Amino acid sequence: MFFFKPLFLSVMAIGSMPLANANQETPEPFPIRVADWPDNRSAAFTFTFDDGYVSHYEHARPVLNEFGFQGTFYLYPGALSESLPGKWRHGTWAMFQEMADEGHEMGSHTVTHPRLTTLPMGDAETPGTIMHELTESRKLIEERIPAAAPCITFAYPYVDRNESVDEAVSGIYLSARGGGQGGNDSRNPVWMNLTSPAIMHDQPRNLLAEDLHELYGQLEMIHQSILKGEWHILMLHEVVPQAQIPDAIAQGSWEPVSTEAFTILCQWIQTRAALGEVWVDTMGNLTRYVRQRNDARINILRTAEDSLVFEVADGLDDSIFNFPLTVIISVPEGWTHATVIQGKHQQNCVVDAADGNTVKCQVTPDQGQVTVSIHHPANPPSDGNP
Ligand SMILES: [Zn+2]
Repeated sequence: MFFFKPLFLSVMAIGSMPLANANQETPEPFPIRVADWPDNRSAAFTFTFDDGYVSHYEHARPVLNEFGFQGTFYLYPGALSESLPGKWRHGTWAMFQEMADEGHEMGSHTVTHPRLTTLPMGDAETPGTIMHELTESRKLIEERIPAAAPCITFAYPYVDRNESVDEAVSGIYLSARGGGQGGNDSRNPVWMNLTSPAIMHDQPRNLLAEDLHELYGQLEMIHQSILKGEWHILMLHEVVPQAQIPDAIAQGSWEPVSTEAFTILCQWIQTRAALGEVWVDTMGNLTRYVRQRNDARINILRTAEDSLVFEVADGLDDSIFNFPLTVIISVPEGWTHATVIQGKHQQNCVVDAADGNTVKCQVTPDQGQVTVSIHHPANPPSDGNP
């Protein structure tokens, strides 16, 4: 058994100074820091699924929902139909609308799934060009799946990209998933080429043991990302019951994973999440968190012995960047509980003596002042109730 030391954003700020000086400390009695990952977890993890298959709806979705995980599904509108039977093994718009309503993210994977580096740059109005594939895909997904708007994340078909493609993508999306091995740096992820290992297993097989052999290799890689405090993005395609794997592969399914192996993966991730090691969320939400955290400015407005008022600003578009940041506040000795209020949102926090006498709370940038005050839970009621 070992413990992960919480990784904090080591940059802090006082007054209106930017979060720029890595070693600067805010004054007593209330040093403040923004956690590297939501809920002050050590690392982050995202499930991504490509190409919009029926099996995403029938097999991946129930497992994710059972564990309370929200995945990112990269759709290309050219594959989706109005009803089944659809195109090959691809699903319907309604399936992914339902999943978006449940909180899963729908990202863009172009319109027709081309190799983007083979296309001319073109423009948004001209089919067969990079710009059309990028803009039309986002437009169609947002039109057909209102819960998917804004569609802010992208995945390159065949992981095929180059500098000019990346540049075009960066004008339309806030992050883009590439390929490769390992995790992504918590401070400086390569936004237009986020690393994402894929489960690679395209051989016909009948035994769960064979799927597990591949799975364990992936778990080891995810484990290493967690140890390094990274954001690990897993690339999946179809998820089908073990008994259907040979048939799926015979039909040309790309790297299908068995539902049984996928369930074991989710159990393992859930265990790591329950230990406080990893935060599981969509590409969009983790993109929001990291970009907001990197841009956060903390202004301390007032301090007293028993209270603190501050605000967090990030200079980003509040219609997109509205994910709460996890803020860690050191409070004076003697505090056991604290009340944190931002607008109408009140959090009652227990002071964590083992973590330097700190309060962990959620603060949404640009949503108003935050008041932290000492709370005495043992105080008797003041209204004379018997
Ligand atoms: Zn694809």
